[in-house]
Amino acid sequence: MLLVDRNLYIPTINAYIDPHYPVDKAIITHAHADRAKPNHKSVLATEDTINIMKLRYGENCAQNFQIINYGERIYIDGIYLSLYPAGHILGSSQVLLEKNGYKVLITGDYKTISDKTAQSFELVKTNTLITEATFGLPVFKHPNPLKEVKKILLSLKNNSDQNHLIGAYSLGKAQRIISLLRDLGFLEEIYIHGSIKKISEYYLNKNIKLGKLIQVTADNSKTLKGKIIIAPPSALKDVWSRKFKDLKIGYASGWMIVKQRAKQKLVELPIIVSDHADWTELTNTIIATEAEQVLITHGQEDCLVYWCNKNNINAKALSLEMN
Ligand SMILES: [Zn+2]
Repeated sequence: MLLVDRNLYIPTINAYIDPHYPVDKAIITHAHADRAKPNHKSVLATEDTINIMKLRYGENCAQNFQIINYGERIYIDGIYLSLYPAGHILGSSQVLLEKNGYKVLITGDYKTISDKTAQSFELVKTNTLITEATFGLPVFKHPNPLKEVKKILLSLKNNSDQNHLIGAYSLGKAQRIISLLRDLGFLEEIYIHGSIKKISEYYLNKNIKLGKLIQVTADNSKTLKGKIIIAPPSALKDVWSRKFKDLKIGYASGWMIVKQRAKQKLVELPIIVSDHADWTELTNTIIATEAEQVLITHGQEDCLVYWCNKNNINAKALSLEMN
């Protein structure tokens, strides 16, 4: 009994998890653009996910919204549905489905390590686990994020005249990098690209300590010297970044672990900070959920399937599921 098909459609309640096109009923795990699309009839999600979707797509980006609190168990047509923190970004959730005592847990994007800008991952025991696998290879071992972000401060110390422009996705990554800089004792104002402003204000209202943030403008950009500037990755190569005189370019992403990617993007300062579980987190979580069946999706499936089978856990890629 799987309750959900390979497209993460739940036939019993006619609902989809993170559908890519408008549907009647969408359960949204988090507000990243690859998961949360506008124009569904109804959206079920955490309050943060719904609020961030509204910030990005407008108040009317769905016809109606249903907030589900973490741990709250709602009953729809024979199925219990609940959401648990996924630790990926603010408001991100895992989805637990239960029918006649049988549990299916869909992790969505997740990480288990601590992050002050997101609710902490909560381990949920389940019969079937549908796990993401973005970094599902043993070579992926994420370094300590504080040590990584410290590279920005060290570089700034050695190149105090240069502005340090760090590419980071506007939802989640940008705020996490800022928060880590504050944890390292960096108290100066941090300059941000306009597209990061609204979401950062939302985080600030949630009492997440980001310190003083100033939006880059045509005026102030001319005078900046030796500052940290956070912008979405698309802005690094854009005309937008040409207005700064002396720049050192950094990029914060889990993928910076692949040196070739940093080289391709001409990034001088690769900062390896990921919001996805690495190999150890993925395999530890699989064991800790006590799942008797594991279905793997969103990433590097083969190696995790092999690892599960070697450890006597029944596993396959979700895409191979028949229904
Ligand atoms: Zn995501």
